[in-house]
Amino acid sequence: MRYKLKNFSIDGFDVNKIAKKYKTPVYCYSFKKLRENILNFNKNFKHIDPLTCFSVKANSNKILLNEIGKLGLGADVVSIGELLKALKSGIKPNKIVFSGVGKTKNEISFAIKKKILLINAESKSEILEIEKIAKIKKKQVNVGIRLNPNTDAKTLSQISTGKKENKFGVSEKNFLELSKYIRNSKYMNLKCLSVHIGSQILDTRPYEKMLKVLDKMIKKINYHFEYIDLGGGMGIDYGNNNKRLNLKKYSSIVKKFKEKHKTKIIFEPGRSIIGNSGILIAKIIYIKEGHKKNFIIIDAAMNDFMRPALYNARHRIIPAVRNKRKSNKSYEFVGPICESTDKFSTLKKFQKLYENDLILICDVGAYGMSLSSNYNTRPKPLEILIKDSKIKIINKRQNLKDLI
Ligand SMILES: *Cc1c(COP(=O)(O)O)cnc(C)c1O
Repeated sequence: MRYKLKNFSIDGFDVNKIAKKYKTPVYCYSFKKLRENILNFNKNFKHIDPLTCFSVKANSNKILLNEIGKLGLGADVVSIGELLKALKSGIKPNKIVFSGVGKTKNEISFAIKKKILLINAESKSEILEIEKIAKIKKKQVNVGIRLNPNTDAKTLSQISTGKKENKFGVSEKNFLELSKYIRNSKYMNLKCLSVHIGSQILDTRPYEKMLKVLDKMIKKINYHFEYIDLGGGMGIDYGNNNKRLNLKKYSSIVKKFKEKHKTKIIFEPGRSIIGNSGILIAKIIYIKEGHKKNFIIIDAAMNDFMRPALYNARHRIIPAVRNKRKSNKSYEFVGPICESTDKFSTLKKFQKLYENDLILICDVGAYGMSLSSNYNTRPKPLEILIKDSKIKIINKRQNLKDLI
């Protein structure tokens, strides 16, 4: 992904040509980048030999899941829909873990039937429900308990999950009680201690704190867990300040932890696997001149890409064709939706833009399409994958007819 002279291209394909052929807005993924991310993740964590389960909620495109599966990853799912997609994409049940605070009877039942690796339970009620279903089915179910380690991930509050005020996991006290309960149950095997403290974590310190809490917990409980699931959350560089999580450093910290506890480590990365492999190509519909700034109204909106509206997340916006003219006003990039939060970025020094120009929103591979909706009765965008010098449609543009 780079500029070739003036035009931006993705793995050899000029985005102008892509937009002309496939129309906009369009999500465009690079297989090369996806593969590179997975190989890089594997390389950094090689000496830990973890089971890496891709967090399906980051991107649940079946063809991408299939590619991710072929590159050796399992899946972390949070609903029966994601579980079905993972299975349909060819990911083996023994590489699938199921997280989430509100798994229904139907979801638990299906997960047991499919013999997935682990159900990571998040409450006493859920554990009782799992036991009840297992008893009816006369099965022994492998479960983990998700601990809330009360650790601040130092990330956006909306994507922090490991503090005691968050709904996720169980407290240390409840963990002790529940692990005892499971160990005494005929229908459940206590296999795993799981945690996930949040997303877009840029520093290893929150992870170090989390591992300390786990250390203490394991000592207290005096039980050997076959698996310790450390969740995901590895932060990527969104281009604002060149920061990202140092995977190598994190890996060496986890290695010590693993050696001490002699356990299999599970990771559940989402964003770090797919985030920077996707770009959203959009076209400028109108430029509306304002007093101090111009509104650049593009044909992608918060229904297509919600992170800026939902989390106030900042994504790089770049032009599809570079020019040398500078705008003297700042630009606010907005979508057509009737909400003031339907905006992507306000940028001061941008090149001069014109109506019908294409712009690119970067690093939208994770929590992009998976968070899209039909708000304002807008059809969801097309998704394409560039692989081996070919463009493949991996999800058709929704049709207005389907919506109406
Ligand atoms: C969202 C989520 C992940 C993935 O988080 P990333 O920041 O995308 O790596 C992993 N595990 C659980 C339980 C999650 O909810």
